Amino acid sequence: MINLELPKKLRFSANQAHQVAAQIFRPISRKYDLAEHDYPVELDTMSAMVEGLADSGTQDISGATGGRKAEGEGDADPHATELLGNSNGGNMSALLNALETSWGDVGLMLSIPYQGLGNAAIAAVATDEQLDRFGKVWAAMAITEPSFGSDSAAVSTTAVLDGDEWVLNGTKIFVTAGSRATHIVVWASVDRSKGRAAIKSFVVPRDAKGLSVARLEHKLGIKASDTAELRLEDCRIPKDNILGSPEVNVEKGFAGVMQTFDNTRPLVAAMAIGVGRAALEELRAVLTDAGVEISYDIPAMNQPAAAAEFLRMEADWEAAYLLALRAGWMADNKKPNSLEASMSKAKAGRMGTDVTLKAVELAGALGYSQRTLLEKWGRDSKILDIFEGTQQIQQLIVARRVLNLTSDKLK
Ligand SMILES: Cc1cc2nc3c(=O)[nH]c(=O)nc-3n(C[C@H](O)[C@H](O)[C@H](O)COP(=O)(O)OP(=O)(O)OC[C@H]3O[C@@H](n4cnc5c(N)ncnc54)[C@H](O)[C@@H]3O)c2cc1C
Repeated sequence: MINLELPKKLRFSANQAHQVAAQIFRPISRKYDLAEHDYPVELDTMSAMVEGLADSGTQDISGATGGRKAEGEGDADPHATELLGNSNGGNMSALLNALETSWGDVGLMLSIPYQGLGNAAIAAVATDEQLDRFGKVWAAMAITEPSFGSDSAAVSTTAVLDGDEWVLNGTKIFVTAGSRATHIVVWASVDRSKGRAAIKSFVVPRDAKGLSVARLEHKLGIKASDTAELRLEDCRIPKDNILGSPEVNVEKGFAGVMQTFDNTRPLVAAMAIGVGRAALEELRAVLTDAGVEISYDIPAMNQPAAAAEFLRMEADWEAAYLLALRAGWMADNKKPNSLEASMSKAKAGRMGTDVTLKAVELAGALGYSQRTLLEKWGRDSKILDIFEGTQQIQQLIVARRVLNLTSDKLK
């Protein structure tokens, strides 16, 4: 029999993240939705807590460090071993923490100091020496450029080695936490004539000469999160700030940098699952107040239409949740999970927008007004179906993997 109960250790850390979400994020959720670009000062308390937790070895409140295992983590929990296979490490714990904090507020979750998506990239590929230097930074992730979004092989930012330094030139747009993070993980080409194989990632400190914030975006949702355009103009960084090997291996393509997505996509899925659960809980309360009873004993078709719809949404949510757990578990157990990571993001991204907007619909005027957070979650969830690869791109990746076709064959 399959036991899908979470191990005790994971429940404990998820519960901690839930407390942060309930006590720090929810009370200020509307405040920063209405004050786009204001820095949420309350996060400084959070930042101190995150540092404290990192020092005590129970780090990663939001989860975006993406699952580099702390020493002794994983197999050390016999319960985990018994229930979910041979290891539950950082990825699974990161995923659950991202879910819980996003239940509180996904914009604030994306603004938690020291927990950027760039941290996941560092955790996935940094050497031990680099982990010593970058393990405790706050890193944003800069891939997108004015000339492309989905087609990440089209990177035109360049990195040229000059003595002991890389010199970076280019423009990055829509960088989450781009104006607040202490470091930016930048994708750049070391040789544009060699195509995608020459794309590497570089850790650029915020105070590096030649790096500047050109503008901040105004957005539909996640307004608590800053989204920046960054310029790199003869920006110099140390030679050993490249993540992974500087060697250009044309046969391997850009598998190295793409590997980060296997860790970050389940995390973004978890964010959608967190927002989706928030909306379902609020909707249940609204329906109960309106006298609609939701029963698990009567077939959905024999219940009020709103209750039947609720049950459908809940089942959809559960499917997304289980797919994300599978992708995270595979990452922890070093099983190739590109297919499952994309599946989980595609499912959760779509579920998130569907569930949150349906919740607005079923709650009627109350859902559309600012008297609850339902309309906000409807706006916030859309980005989770866009960044780290859109819905369509995830489906494309799934199709390529299932049909065993290369990106040249199936575009
Ligand atoms: C709030 C916000 C935060 C972001 N944060 C970051 C960040 O931190 N770092 C970063 O690097 N980027 C970030 N991005 C950028 C994000 O990753 C891109 O917006 C996303 O990858 C889509 O790219 P695009 O907007 O250029 O759309 P396009 O690639 O132009 O796509 C437009 C539409 O066409 C579809 N499409 C594209 N190609 C195909 C295809 N082959 N088959 C079928 N359909 C296709 C897409 O799914 C989409 O619906 C952020 C964006 C936003 C809005």
